[in-house]
Amino acid sequence: MRDPNNPAIGIDLGTTFSVLAYLDAHGEPKSVANAEGDLLTPSVVLFEDSLVTVGKEARKAAALVPEGLAAFAKRDMGEPAFHREISGSKFPPEVIQSLVLSKLKHDAELQLPRVEQAVITVPSYFNEPRRKATQDAGQLAGLDVLDIINEPTAAALTYGAKQGFLNERGEAAKTERVLVYDLGGGTFDVTLMEIEGKNYNTIATGGDVYLGGIDFDRRLIDHVAAAFQEKHGGDDPKQDLATLQRMTQEAEDVKRALTNREQTTFTVEHKGQGMRLQITRNLFESLTEDLLMRTMFTIRNVLRQANCEANQVTRVILVGGSTRMPMVARQLEKELGQTIDRSISTDEAVAHGAAIYAGILQNERAGIKSSVSVVNVNSHSLGVLGTEEATGRPRNAVIIPANSQLPLVMGKRFSTAKDGQRSIKVSVIEGGNASGQNATPVAQCVIRDLPPNLPKGTKVEVFFSYQQNGRMKIRARVPKLDKEATLVVQREVGLSDENMVAWQQWIDGTNLSLGD
Ligand code: ADP
Ligand code: MG
Repeated sequence: MRDPNNPAIGIDLGTTFSVLAYLDAHGEPKSVANAEGDLLTPSVVLFEDSLVTVGKEARKAAALVPEGLAAFAKRDMGEPAFHREISGSKFPPEVIQSLVLSKLKHDAELQLPRVEQAVITVPSYFNEPRRKATQDAGQLAGLDVLDIINEPTAAALTYGAKQGFLNERGEAAKTERVLVYDLGGGTFDVTLMEIEGKNYNTIATGGDVYLGGIDFDRRLIDHVAAAFQEKHGGDDPKQDLATLQRMTQEAEDVKRALTNREQTTFTVEHKGQGMRLQITRNLFESLTEDLLMRTMFTIRNVLRQANCEANQVTRVILVGGSTRMPMVARQLEKELGQTIDRSISTDEAVAHGAAIYAGILQNERAGIKSSVSVVNVNSHSLGVLGTEEATGRPRNAVIIPANSQLPLVMGKRFSTAKDGQRSIKVSVIEGGNASGQNATPVAQCVIRDLPPNLPKGTKVEVFFSYQQNGRMKIRARVPKLDKEATLVVQREVGLSDENMVAWQQWIDGTNLSLGD
């Protein structure tokens, strides 16, 4: 029996919508509606003077105060600041996301005794700084973040708990190769998992941080804006922030309507002139076909990395609101030659899986071992930026290749370059090509206070590890002295401890309009 006073919480902190779920007394995941009565809370925050509003109300007011609206902050996680100033101020994306979490927590507390011990989900391709930013957002919202979990893994846990990967005797029926296809509002994520009974192993993962429902909406907006200009001449209606905001809402409505109907009308109004345009599903599909094909390309890539043929995939799970577009399942069936499973809720599966995982972790804290095992892989290689001796060019020495099973520790030896050297500096990067291009700088580690008088060429061993959740740890030692070396890890991005405290105070001081 679970502690009803401290339920396990799962939060799908989405790019466009977020969902909070908990495990009930029977260990069943349940979604919690927000104060407006909706299961999905738009991940948008409106800043007006000293007032902060989150969710549907924020989105409604957006056309009036477009410069105060922060949406899609998840895309910026891991960056120092939200991609544009909000009413003249710079906000770290984790602060915006923490305000979304604060609303979810606050609203859920109207129904649950306590909302504290939570697992928050992240796309599996999130790199280390983005993962840290997510944990920090949770902390800023006053949550005890038990862990983060990859969204496809969470969806698979929900599927497994409901549908079962076990036969009637409770044994693994067979090894399932499950492809989780998650097309949300702003991101695309595809993951191949091998599931054997209660063992969930991620094999390979891929995705696109800049591909989601909004890109489909934008194609409609571009099409309509061009037609509007052709008819009325004058400036591009998209250049006007308020018009753009209205067109964005209209485009989403039209897109959703086309999921159920063959055609509908797009209405635009700009500077006193209006236009109504018929949009057919066929037209919409042809305007966005390349976006859909990009997702198929990513699938092929992931399957190739996993050495898996398309016909070896045994189940396909669809997650994310954009998978409702009929062309998604149609194209997937073509690509993978099988019918697509639609038995779990595309909106709730991720949050439910996070709640299930939170329950497992709560049990573990209480000393109860779970029969479910989850094995993850890293979505980006971890390397050290060095210099090629012959050419003097930068070189990416990969230490942990992408898609390695986690947790994993890898050691690398460095040598001092001169006699009496007291410190060594190591630049840690994620991803990137052989010369480190397109890599994300993660941290500068400085091995400090090496004992004096070490001869040139003294070996220093640095251990890089990814924990199960994709967070990084680094340790260094000097084997000759059999001694740990002092290591200072200076993170390249994300909030420092001092900034966390400062923002925490800012958040505590804001007037959060929470709708009660
Ligand atoms: P995220 O995980 O990125 O927050 P969701 O999984 O909630 O996003 O998906 C949100 C996206 O799904 C939005 O772009 C929304 O327009 C789209 N969407 C929701 N319902 C439909 C529908 N019926 N038809 C087409 N797209 C939809
Ligand atoms: Mg999502």
